[in-house]
Amino acid sequence: MKQIAIDGPAGAGKSTIAKFLSKELNLMYVDTGAMYRSIGLACINAGIDMENEAQVGEVCGKADIDIQYIDGVQHMFLEGKDVSTDIRREEVGKAASDTSRFTAVRERLVAIQQQLGERYDVVMDGRDIGTKVLPDAGLKIFLTASSACRADRRVKQLAEQGITADFEEVKRDIEQRDYNDSHRANSPLCQAEDAILVDTSDLNIEQVIAVIKDLYNKTVWK
Ligand code: C5P
Repeated sequence: MKQIAIDGPAGAGKSTIAKFLSKELNLMYVDTGAMYRSIGLACINAGIDMENEAQVGEVCGKADIDIQYIDGVQHMFLEGKDVSTDIRREEVGKAASDTSRFTAVRERLVAIQQQLGERYDVVMDGRDIGTKVLPDAGLKIFLTASSACRADRRVKQLAEQGITADFEEVKRDIEQRDYNDSHRANSPLCQAEDAILVDTSDLNIEQVIAVIKDLYNKTVWK
């Protein structure tokens, strides 16, 4: 199967690039962050302590999560309800970051992701795709950008939705999330040895796409 792995910190532009590649190359886009967010939402709904591994493990084991592709777009269902919009909330992102370090959560979600990678041609984005989920992916990209640049993009994105956010606060949250994701014992965020680093700090979206297209064209598929 054709597999493209895109990893990197929050706000580096992973989903934009993955969506572009999925359209351009007719691959299934698997957004793994949305799966961790769904478990985070299940933990919020259950009102449990996110630090408590046993409680998180229990909620994760029981949660009825389902992934469906509607008109080619990934939708997440939790207990039969489409939560694709709800999981985008900041609070849910934080819950995902807090609970994604636990083994029970990672084992359940990595198994689903690997099944998708075995059945379909995919472009998958996350934190551990090149290192753990799809170690044999034909193309691995590690997309990054400075925290200031990512915070700036996030503030602008929120402004477009009519939400005013404080730059310093957003930057602090991003740095905290990066720290959590890179320092956990279980599958920390890190660049796979054979991944290509693309720093998008000084590039606009068209330039990033041009870089990625070039990398794709040079890839020799096994
Ligand atoms: O990418 P997104 O912000 O949607 O991810 C939410 C959280 O889910 C991340 O901060 C990270 O803790 C977790 N995650 C993960 N492994 C992945 C994808 C996301 O641990 N492959």
